[in-house]
Amino acid sequence: MQIVQTVAALRAAVADARARGERIGFVPTMGALHEGHLSLIDLARAQCACVVLSIFVNPLQFAPTDDLAKYPRTEAADIALAASRGATIAFVPSVDVMYPGPRVVSVIPDAIADRWEGAIRPGHFAGVLTVVSKLFNLVQPDVAVFGQKDLQQATLLRALVRDLDFPVTVQIAPIVREDDGLAMSSRNRYLGVDDRRAALALSRALSAVSGRFLAGVRDATELCATGDAQLRLESAVRCDYLSIVDPVMLAPVDTASVGDYVMLAARVGGTRLLDNHRLGEPFPVLR
Ligand code: AMP
Repeated sequence: MQIVQTVAALRAAVADARARGERIGFVPTMGALHEGHLSLIDLARAQCACVVLSIFVNPLQFAPTDDLAKYPRTEAADIALAASRGATIAFVPSVDVMYPGPRVVSVIPDAIADRWEGAIRPGHFAGVLTVVSKLFNLVQPDVAVFGQKDLQQATLLRALVRDLDFPVTVQIAPIVREDDGLAMSSRNRYLGVDDRRAALALSRALSAVSGRFLAGVRDATELCATGDAQLRLESAVRCDYLSIVDPVMLAPVDTASVGDYVMLAARVGGTRLLDNHRLGEPFPVLR
């Protein structure tokens, strides 16, 4: 695997791959890689001989009160893991490489970004869409892979490519979970033993909602009450939102249908966790 830190080196490495006739897959990350990230590399690798992994903790998507400074950074381990799964180029730029001068142009999403995560983290998605637009222009991939774990982000990235005509195919990979159901996240490492156990309330809530839906319940209020009840069983868990939403605009629905999502965010101790599940699909069996 080639490790590149500058725009020129990245462009040269990608040009070499193109000259060899390789398709280019792209997996953007903020590092602290876990099996969820690696599953995205696997999906890209299955279709593309060249897989570019980027590791960049993007300051633009963190508010001043967010956890930018303490975001986990495990670059050496990340590079070894990515190489072991077949990534061929690691792009690891500094903040100065990505944002060399004053920045006057951003990609600002429409109102869909103002709800859920956008309501709690103003400006977050403008930061995400701006950096991903830059990365798309730098890498110029054929395929870019993102995770369903960050459902609103994935939905907005699909919209970015559709609305601004980026010549890339976006693929959304399923959520990778720990054996006990907790969705893998770089932030899980912040959880102490008690909070780690309490965090299982999130996947239990999704599992319960999924089960009620599969049993025929369609009333969204009733489905949400089922999820909320699970979350309330753990006093360390503070729910930010739990809602049944349509898959395109992520707007709350009154009556749930197959293909809608149950999505939630909750704080466990000082750690904010996200999770979701597509209704109609059985929730994975939890151990
Ligand atoms: P991050 O490094 O947190 O910005 O995540 C990079 C990419 O990995 C995003 O597309 C995430 O949605 C995806 N991702 C994070 N966690 C998981 C997971 N548990 N399963 C699948 N994809 C994930």
